[in-house]
This record gives sequence, C-alpha cells and structure tokens, in this order.
Amino acid sequence: MDLLEYQGKEIFRSFGIPVPEGKPAKSPKRAREIAEKFGSTVVIKAQVRVGGRGKAGGVKLAKDPAEAEQVASQILGMDIKGHTVREVLVEKAGDIAQEFYASFMLDRGAKAYLGMCSVKGGVDIETVAAEEPDYLAKVHIDPLVGLQQSHIRRMLFGGKIPAAAHKEVGALLALLFRAFVDGDCDLAEVNPLIITGDGKAVALDAKVSLEENAAFRHPEWAKYKDLKSLPKQERTAKELGLGNFLALEGNVGVIGNGAGLTMSTLDVVANFGGAPANFLDIGGGANAEVMANAIGVILSDRKVRSLLVNIFGGITRCDEVARGILAAIETLGGAKVPIVVRLDGTNADEGRTILRQAAPPKVETAETMNEAAQRAVALAGKGRRS
Ligand code: GDP
Ligand code: MN
Repeated sequence: MDLLEYQGKEIFRSFGIPVPEGKPAKSPKRAREIAEKFGSTVVIKAQVRVGGRGKAGGVKLAKDPAEAEQVASQILGMDIKGHTVREVLVEKAGDIAQEFYASFMLDRGAKAYLGMCSVKGGVDIETVAAEEPDYLAKVHIDPLVGLQQSHIRRMLFGGKIPAAAHKEVGALLALLFRAFVDGDCDLAEVNPLIITGDGKAVALDAKVSLEENAAFRHPEWAKYKDLKSLPKQERTAKELGLGNFLALEGNVGVIGNGAGLTMSTLDVVANFGGAPANFLDIGGGANAEVMANAIGVILSDRKVRSLLVNIFGGITRCDEVARGILAAIETLGGAKVPIVVRLDGTNADEGRTILRQAAPPKVETAETMNEAAQRAVALAGKGRRS
C-alpha cells in the first residue's frame, strides 16, 4: 500500500526521523490557516501517489498566508500524471544546503534488504542509476544480521556523501532502517534528504509503501486505506472483501479461484483469441455469497459480453459455487450475459447437476478449461448487452 507523503512522514516522525513541521489541507482556506500558524515561508506540496511532483508544478513556496491560499488553490484539483490532487501538505519551508538520496527496500531476488544512498539527491534516482551509477551506492543487508555500521559506511562512501555530513546522514540512515523494518515497509525512500544551513539532516520528502501482509499487526494502518482513490469496480470488490480484483480492457469477464488458476485462465482466454475484461481471484473456500457478489461486480462492467467462471474445487466446494451462481442470477434478475462455468475438483458433479437442473437461461457448463474458455470467447464475440 503506497502512502501519501504526509502519511509517510507521520511514520518517519514516529521513529524519530527529523521531518519538517507540516499539516495536510484539503482546501485553500485550510492551507492559509496552517500557514498563519507557522508564521513563516511555507512550501505547498501536492499529495499524490506519484513522483516528479516538483517538475509538474505540484511543489511551490509561499511567503505569506495569502500566497499560501492562492498557491493551494492552484495545486488542488491539478492533474499530475493522471492523479487528481485532493490534498496538499503545508510545511515550514526547509533551509536547503545540500540534497541527497537514501532508501531501503526489499530485494526479493537477492533475498535481502537493499539500501541505497547518493549525493545526487532531489533528482530522479533512476536517471542517476542509469547515467551516473558511480554516485549511487547499493548495499545488500542480510535480514538476519540487520544494519551494521559497516553497511552505513558503505552507503555513505559509495554514495559519495561529503565527509562533513557523514555523522548526520549516518544517523538518519539508521533511523530510516528501523522505520523500514519495524514499520513493516516494502519501501522507505527519502529524496531529497537534505542538510540544512546549520548542518542538520532532514527528510524533506517521504515515499513509503507498507507491506499489506503485515496489516494484522498494525490496526493504525486502517486510516491509510483510501478506497476513494480506487476505480469504482475495484472499490466495490474491496468493500465486498472479494479477493484480488483488477479491471482489464477486454470483454470476457473472468472469475477463478487461486491466483495461479486465474492467471492461467486469462492466458487461455487470450489463446483462443479473446480479451479478458478483468482478473478476479475469489480465493479458497468461496461460498455462495462470495460467488454472487463476484458475479455482480463483474456484470456491473458494461464492457463484459460473456463471463467465464473457472473453479477448481479444493477447499472450495463446487456445489457451493453452483448455488452462488444461481443466487447471483436470481438477485440480478437473470443472467445479462452468457455465463460459462467450468467446475472441477471437490463436489464438481454435484455442482454441475445443480446448474443443469436449475437450467437458468444463458448459463452453460463445460468439462475442461479449454472448452470453457473457447466457448466464452465465442459468446463474447456475438453477445450483446441489453
Ligand atoms: P517530488 O518532485 O515529487 O519528488 O517532490 P519533492 O518533495 O522531492 O520536492 C521536489 C523539490 O522541491 C525538492 O527536490 C526541493 O528542491 C524542492 N523543495 C521541496 N520542499 C522544499 C522546501 O521546503 N524548500 C525549498 N526551498 N525547496 C523545497
Ligand atoms: Mn522527492
């Protein structure tokens, strides 16, 4: 889960990382009030989950409250790389002497943490990595060993951080690593990490991504869940607690159980010349209600011309799935598009029997995944939404 800058800074602050004083605002008037309280030059920063805000005009200084209000009204509502700005961060402006880069992330391939550090801060780090790799230190950290002084020294020297700043930046790196590990982050990035006029290290920006599998030990993360920023269908799927949903471009709706089976289903649909309209993995043990919700969400997409339900029953029972399909069709007042159901595994025969006996219009069963996909693709081609 990607956080907004001010949320990332909230986490940084809780681990003792120096960040500028600041508050989020959803209106120009609120931005003005915050600037009045600070009584100094402030910086107004667009809060969107995308980098390069500075270049896009989403980061601006304001020398007094009136200007803060005016700048906030310019930035609120702005579109930055497809993200609408709904909130700004109003911060006491930083006194920047130098700008560096620092981050910790998970390097799955190396089965280790990766710490990065560079004297070339404030700019796009991918560009530094590509054009001036000698200025970017990349240091792997064994998770069982943790961050040692030797890692910090390799980050500082490798990143060509000036010696005068080693003590300050080194201390911030140690705190950042704590926040990254104990805060259950996938990524904790500071760009720029600044040295102020009086020689102090401060995190001027924060890019934090939380590891959602650790959410069970962080009840405080609930406030970061921003369902409003999701596309409507994905939001509904999340609200209904429906596993993993992703909208795609095609016209064949896809429901599977298990990420592997669902991804294979997308491949098989493509193999028969079709285009999947979505990915929906309803997970293991899906009951009739989950099935009914899943069908409802997919059929709410008007692009969908046919629906392929591909279930391999393990802990999921195919008779439950069949009942869910019937329940969904009843709730929706009939199948609006053809539905092809392939059931295999636990109670598959019972499931197919339930569907055949009820025989709702437009619902077909198929024995194999290939047969089902081929049929769904053919039906999508001819199908029409009434
Ligand atoms: P990003 O472009 O989305 O990464 O946003 P940043 O928070 O990194 O801001 C971009 C740039 O704006 C920084 O590299 C700084 O040069 C500048 N900036 C950000 N905050 C301040 C501030 O408080 N004072 C000054 N003078 N410049 C700032
Ligand atoms: Mn930045």
